[in-house]
Amino acid sequence: MTHEELAAGSAAVLVVGSANVDLVVPADRRPGAGETVLGGDTAVSPGGKGANTAVAAGRLGARVALLGAVGEDAYGGVLLDSLRDAGVHTGLVRETGRPTGIAYITVTPDGENSILVSPGANSALVPTDVDDVADADDVDDVDDVYDGVRVVVASLEIPLPVVERALEAAAAAGVTTVLNLSPVAKVPDATLAALDVLLVNEHEAAWLLGGSSLGDPGALLDLGPKAAVVTIGARGALVVTAEGVREVPSPKVKPVDTTGAGDAFAGALAASLAEGASLADASARAVEVAAVSVTRRGAQPSYPTKEELS
Ligand code: ATP
Repeated sequence: MTHEELAAGSAAVLVVGSANVDLVVPADRRPGAGETVLGGDTAVSPGGKGANTAVAAGRLGARVALLGAVGEDAYGGVLLDSLRDAGVHTGLVRETGRPTGIAYITVTPDGENSILVSPGANSALVPTDVDDVADADDVDDVDDVYDGVRVVVASLEIPLPVVERALEAAAAAGVTTVLNLSPVAKVPDATLAALDVLLVNEHEAAWLLGGSSLGDPGALLDLGPKAAVVTIGARGALVVTAEGVREVPSPKVKPVDTTGAGDAFAGALAASLAEGASLADASARAVEVAAVSVTRRGAQPSYPTKEELS
C-alpha cells in the first residue's frame, strides 16, 4: 500500500508501536549468574506489540500501516516480510542505525518464560517521526496521512513521547484513538483524557487503579478516557462506557499458546472500529479473533484471516 492509497482509504488503521524479533530457546533450566547452559534450537519469530497488532489487523483485511522502527539487519528483514505478508503498509517503518529490537526468551519445561528485551531500533523513535511522515515522498502533509486513517492504535515498548505525539496528532485530526497501555506505565493525565479507548488487561487495569485486583472497572473512566476495554483472559473482555460495564464473553476454546493474544485483540478491535463498528461489537469481534489465536502456536502465525472466521 502506498502513502497515497493509505490516505485515500476510508477504513484505515495506523498502528504506532514496537517491532521485535523473538528468539526463543528451550532449555532444561535457566542459567544463573556466571553460568553457561546449553539449550535447544532457537526459534526465530516476528513479534513486538506494534507489529503484532498491525499483522492481526492486516490479516482481517484492514488497510493498515505501522509507524515503527527496525535496524538495517537480517532481523529487520524478517519483521518487514511478515508485515508485508499480512498486507501491512511498511513505508512508515524507519530503518535506523540501531539494531532491530530483540526479545531473548528462554522457555523451561515447566512452561515458564524468562525474557530479556533489547529494544534497539524501537528506542530510536522520536516524536518528530510522527511529523516526518509529512516528508515521505508521496505525502505533502502529515494531515494527508491522518485524513485516510479512521483509527490510531498505540502501545508502549517505544518511547512514551512518540506515543503522546501520535495520539495528540490523531486527536487533532479527529481520528479515533486507542491506547493499549501495555506494558503498563505512568502516562500524562492529558494523554489519557484525550483518548477514545483505553485498552488494558486485568493486571494493567488493577495497576492503574492502584489495587492488586481489578475492583471497579468503571473507575478507569475517572482517569479520563471516553471508554475503556479490559481484557480478562479466557473470560473475554469488559467494555466500560459512561452507560456502565458490559461483559463480552469469549467462546470456549482449548488454549495451546496465549502469546500475543492481547495484541490480536488490539488489532481486531482497531480493524472493526475502522469499519465503523460500535465499541461493543468491535470487542465481540476482538474476543472471537483472540480466541482463535490462543488455539495456535506463536503470536503472528496464530492470527486468523477474515475468511477463517465464521
Ligand atoms: P497476552 O499477554 O497473552 O498477549 P494479555 O495478558 O495482554 O494477553 P489477556 O486478557 O490474557 O491479555 O488476553 C487477551 C484476550 O485474549 C482476551 O480478552 C481473550 O479474548 C483472549 N484469550 C486469552 N486467553 C484466552 C483463553 N484461555 N481462551 C480464550 N480466549 C483467551
